[in-house]
Amino acid sequence: MQRPQVGELSPPDRLLMGPGPSEVHPRTLRAMAAPPVGHLDPAFIDVMDETQELLRYVLQTENRWTIPVSGTGSAAMEAAIGNLTRPGDTVLVPSNGYFGDRMAAMVRRAGGAPVRVDAPWGEPLAPDDVQEAFTEHDPDLFGFVHAETSTGVKQPDVPALTDIAHDNDALVVADVVTSLGGVEFRMDDWGVDAAYSAGQKCLSCPPGASPLSLNHAAMERVQSREERPRSWYLDLSLLDDYWGEERAYHHTAPVSNVYALRESLRLVVEEGLEDRWARHERVAGALREGLAAMGLEPVAEPDWWLPSLNTARLPEAAHVEPGDVIDRMLEEHGIEIAGGLGDLAGEVLRVGCMGYGATPDNVTALVAALGDSLLALGVDVDADAGPATVRESLRSN
Ligand code: PLP
Repeated sequence: MQRPQVGELSPPDRLLMGPGPSEVHPRTLRAMAAPPVGHLDPAFIDVMDETQELLRYVLQTENRWTIPVSGTGSAAMEAAIGNLTRPGDTVLVPSNGYFGDRMAAMVRRAGGAPVRVDAPWGEPLAPDDVQEAFTEHDPDLFGFVHAETSTGVKQPDVPALTDIAHDNDALVVADVVTSLGGVEFRMDDWGVDAAYSAGQKCLSCPPGASPLSLNHAAMERVQSREERPRSWYLDLSLLDDYWGEERAYHHTAPVSNVYALRESLRLVVEEGLEDRWARHERVAGALREGLAAMGLEPVAEPDWWLPSLNTARLPEAAHVEPGDVIDRMLEEHGIEIAGGLGDLAGEVLRVGCMGYGATPDNVTALVAALGDSLLALGVDVDADAGPATVRESLRSN
């Protein structure tokens, strides 16, 4: 066999303003490049303890059972859904975005029966509809997506939903992949029993170690299961041997990813969670206004707008494919944005405003580049209005 001729890695210079991964802070990159130690080394046990403590702060929870799952957000998601769904369980999931469907697929694989609570793509779940779905289906578990990356919709008033679930003796699992560290989320105060996230969104960490937290009631359900979860790797009662008191071998933790997550979480703590939420709102607010000034109308109403992910429709008269705009932004400006998924495919642009990337300079540059790209594609747009509006919004907020 011939030796492959592959050059040294040299990734292009990009500004990551899509749905994730997001820009990574140099301190996190440096932490990731630190020499790994053994995953059972006492020094790494300290890193594990610190990472768990930092995660509890960012999730706003006292849950002892708070860990980074080895893998991307889907691994933390499958750990939550796969452990909390027992064969034969009924699980209520939302139909208003792409990730509710993924929840349903995971429920099926775990031997459960998914049932839906409906809302249109681009809108949150209405508490009355959730109540009606509980009356109709009597689910054992209710999953919802706090920040739906496919639509740019935030689920407002989370306690209104968790109250319904608890009144009906169901547990609640929240997808906080695109909100954690960027948008207000309070796990304990809001009555969420299990929550999972990912590193590569508002935490601005490379993907690979993904937050997961379960409260006592959720962990009790896991530990009292008659049949073990179908995944050995993600069986939380086995993972408890490693992340719990014993610190015994289960699998080799991705040491460098945990270093990176720890540093990203430290950056959140230094900034302060509330200040970080406020920064996302201010900077993404300017982005939203700047896009609208160029005729790109937001999909989400202000009451459920998700600052970390902005979905905007191209003007109808533009006669331009989102894909052409996205390609031009990448090729000419080195800026990554994305198009729509599912019901919104071909209709919208999705622009992230996450973590280290959520800065006035980045959104100003992005809106200017988008104006240029639209003009270059023959769209009749007031390209100067975008950056001017962004600057004005940042000045006045
Ligand atoms: N849930 C939501 C809301 C997401 O946006 C994503 C990824 O974008 C996931 C789950 C899955 O995470 P990952 O792609 O890291 O596996």
